[in-house]
Amino acid sequence: DRLVDAGADGEDTAVEAALRPKDLHEFVGQEKVREQLDLVLKAARARGATADHVLLSGAPGLGKTTLSMIIAAEMGAPIRITSGPAIQHAGDLAAILSSLQEGEVLFLDEIHRMSRPAEEMLYMAMEDFRVDVIVGKGPGATAIPLELPPFTLVGATTRAGLLPPPLRDRFGFTGHMEFYAPTELERVIHRSAGLLDVAIDPAGAAEIAGRSRGTPRIANRLLRRVRDYAQVKAEGRIDRDIAAAALRVYEVDDKGLDRLDRAVLGALLKLFGGGPVGLSTLAVAVGEERETVEEVAEPFLVREGLLARTPRGRVATPAAWAHLGLVPPQHGVK
Ligand code: ATP
Repeated sequence: DRLVDAGADGEDTAVEAALRPKDLHEFVGQEKVREQLDLVLKAARARGATADHVLLSGAPGLGKTTLSMIIAAEMGAPIRITSGPAIQHAGDLAAILSSLQEGEVLFLDEIHRMSRPAEEMLYMAMEDFRVDVIVGKGPGATAIPLELPPFTLVGATTRAGLLPPPLRDRFGFTGHMEFYAPTELERVIHRSAGLLDVAIDPAGAAEIAGRSRGTPRIANRLLRRVRDYAQVKAEGRIDRDIAAAALRVYEVDDKGLDRLDRAVLGALLKLFGGGPVGLSTLAVAVGEERETVEEVAEPFLVREGLLARTPRGRVATPAAWAHLGLVPPQHGVK
């Protein structure tokens, strides 16, 4: 339930459909991916062919689902959305593949989490537009080849490196999605504010952008929470002071750290003099599970250069002391 979690929650799912850019021009940032994709799609259209398979890699909330929908829209094709964990058996995948229409875009989120047999079926489907459906069991089992219409697979993964090379090699194009710069997030926020009919000035948008961890999904979520505050306290108008005051209420600080992040950092600095300290000890000190500290709080702290994972334990950086307004102990001075 964290406001700064990059994954989608129920409320996001409901609102995101309305906030999704519909074409490549509306899609903010990711210049490289946009430019390359634009070429891939234009070339396919010019040839009257189905676009090559596309792999999108990047952290949650950066716009992979949105881009896949744009690919379908630009190709004038329908889209089917599913995910790796939803495909337990090769048969599940065969059912989906055999019901695709010609040119259809199949979006496979978390493609690295597909089962092994499904993955192998996918190799053949991607390369030859064909699957072998196995009928029967044991020695009497037979493979019935099934022709598929040409389709475009758009695979999404948090890390392209997690994919087995034979799968990775079957994509004609791989787009690496980066975290967004604050100025790009300001554009996302202005665009969303327009669609949600919220009045916001540039300084207000900058204040929210700076706390959004480089992620449009978080920017849109913080915008909605700030809008609530502004409605109650400021007749709906968002400026810098209102945005800052609202996000203080929600405990999201000016770097985008929330209560949990600050608790971890605070314990590391105040209880352990900045470390090194073991993960388990740190977790006990903040009253959280090891996994929560390691998987939920630490990745962003590491990314921001506030915390380092070393073989001897967790260590705070000078930036961590500065961020919490604390002075590091003077080593060697008695
Ligand atoms: P996940 O991997 O968690 O499913 P995702 O990378 O697929 O996340 P999306 O669902 O595409 O992310 O995007 C999340 C939200 O952020 C959507 O509401 C979308 O409108 C917005 N968004 C993402 N990228 C952009 C962008 N470049 N410009 C404007 N809005 C964006």
